[in-house]
Amino acid sequence: MSKTFCMSCKKEVSEDLNKCECGGEFFVYGDKFHFGVNGITCNCGNDKFSLNLHMDYKEKAVSNFNCTKCSNLVVTESYRDKDDLMYVLE
Ligand SMILES: [Zn+2]
Ligand SMILES: [Zn+2]
Repeated sequence: MSKTFCMSCKKEVSEDLNKCECGGEFFVYGDKFHFGVNGITCNCGNDKFSLNLHMDYKEKAVSNFNCTKCSNLVVTESYRDKDDLMYVLE
């Protein structure tokens, strides 16, 4: 089961949320990871991830990361605020 966490308050949030109750708009989701002292840590114990895909949408930026040890996939989603959105559309 994949889970979604707010990167600001590190609480689990619902998958379709685009703004956390803490105001955070940066989310991470995936399977087999947790938050450790160095941030996102794979359940294999590794905390290093390599970026393999980055997509920019109008309302959000999505990045796919793989654990450098076991290739476990973790995805981050960063929602843009209105000012950013206008900037993109210009
Ligand atoms: Zn939050
Ligand atoms: Zn791993």
